[in-house]
Amino acid sequence: MFYKSTRNSDVKVSSAQAIAQGISKDGGLFVPSEIPSLTLEEIKEIGSMSYADRAAAVFSKYLTDFTEAELRYCVDNAYSTKNFDTESITEIAHLFDGTYMLELWHGPTCAFKDMALQILPYLLTTSAKKINLDKKIVILVATSGDTGKAALEGFKDVPGTSIMVFYPEDGVSAMQKKQMTTQEGENVGVCAIKGNFDDAQNGVKRIFTDADIAKKLNDNGMMFSSANSINWGRLAPQIIYYVSTYAQLVADNEIALGDKINVVVPTGNFGNILAAYYAKHMGVPVNKLICASNSNNVLTDFLTTGIYDRNRKFYTTISPSMDILISSNLERLLYHLCGENDATIREWFGKLATEGKYEVSEEVKKMLADEFYAGCCDDEATKTCIKEIYEKYSYTCDTHTAVAVKVYEDYVKATGDKTRTVIASTASPYKFSGSVLEALGEHKASLDEFTLVDKLADASKLPVPASLSALKDKEIRFSESVEKADMDAYVFKTLSIN
Ligand SMILES: *Cc1c(COP(=O)(O)O)cnc(C)c1O
Repeated sequence: MFYKSTRNSDVKVSSAQAIAQGISKDGGLFVPSEIPSLTLEEIKEIGSMSYADRAAAVFSKYLTDFTEAELRYCVDNAYSTKNFDTESITEIAHLFDGTYMLELWHGPTCAFKDMALQILPYLLTTSAKKINLDKKIVILVATSGDTGKAALEGFKDVPGTSIMVFYPEDGVSAMQKKQMTTQEGENVGVCAIKGNFDDAQNGVKRIFTDADIAKKLNDNGMMFSSANSINWGRLAPQIIYYVSTYAQLVADNEIALGDKINVVVPTGNFGNILAAYYAKHMGVPVNKLICASNSNNVLTDFLTTGIYDRNRKFYTTISPSMDILISSNLERLLYHLCGENDATIREWFGKLATEGKYEVSEEVKKMLADEFYAGCCDDEATKTCIKEIYEKYSYTCDTHTAVAVKVYEDYVKATGDKTRTVIASTASPYKFSGSVLEALGEHKASLDEFTLVDKLADASKLPVPASLSALKDKEIRFSESVEKADMDAYVFKTLSIN
């Protein structure tokens, strides 16, 4: 197995190289040269394993240059009760008949990003060692809220690494901001930017691909890598929980081996749902992949018309981790769908960069319609959905997960499809206590985020994650805010180079 660039099919690197480097020099994303397969028998066997063993089984198909011992080191350090509040690492909650909530937020920062970011530092430092890289790895992250904190927790004080996180000043929740600005660790930096998530992401991409900046780092014994889902080391761990969940549902006799399921994913950067796509094409029986968006519904339009058009109003919503108009991982999907034609990808994504718009071929449109259903809902519908689920099923879900539930309900109404369905639950409701309480009709505007947490605990009866309560007594360490043009300067200053 080797990895190619979506913008140059002649690039051929090992998984260690792809993970250490993060993004290809031509600006393309690394993709596996083929999607490995899992037989139904193998999937069934996975159902009797611990999560760490499930992870090792799936990784061994993708990271073929890693030794068994290296994989064990990575999975054992990441997926244990040291970091997660449940032995099974993820939980499956039953919402209503045949509908399962896949809770991906039992890690240290209470969002699904932990599933990948708890393991990425181990994958990355192991990769660097394997390719004899003796440089300090500098991680730059653009975050819409959850990635930043999860990456900071994963990388803090990891030897040989340094991490900087940029977040949109007004684009994250009070709890997310508190989580990041109080971050501990000697190798971390956190900075707000005056702009939205796309500005932050473009700024990070620009710095990554700037040859002069790369040389400057190199001269100082450093190199960049990425913890965003453009890094294959972020995406591969996300495939695991879809395989794992299917295997678990079989083990629990909820479905029979071979039965198809639908998968619903609240989507922003298209990383999580792309992982489900990979799981499907490895052999997990999946009927529809259902892509749920908030008012930033660029993906809904794309998946239904084949026209990607980012020239539209940007909305700041109550599901901020999905407030994205450029979904980076779509590039990987389209590369696979257009027959791995790098020229086509260069053309489409060139247009996206210059005109903010491209249209895929008729053939690709057909394949998209085959694989995906897409829908969206606004903040009002999201809140109504939270209240309804709470009242009907005594289940409290966060604002992102509620978008998925609402779009799934619309899908069932539109199609009558009764296939059993897994809905990705991507954050603990406590990360967005204010909005969730407001949805339940209990919000008092002036309360601070910790009083809100207490009130939500009263309403939901869910235990408050210890990591969130602990924030209350932590000091703010990072309060800087810069223009997007000044992100380079912040990086140099933090690294003490000039
Ligand atoms: C990041 C995030 C999403 C979106 O996931 P993508 O992989 O970017 O599509 C959805 N919900 C929550 C809570 C998130 O943190």
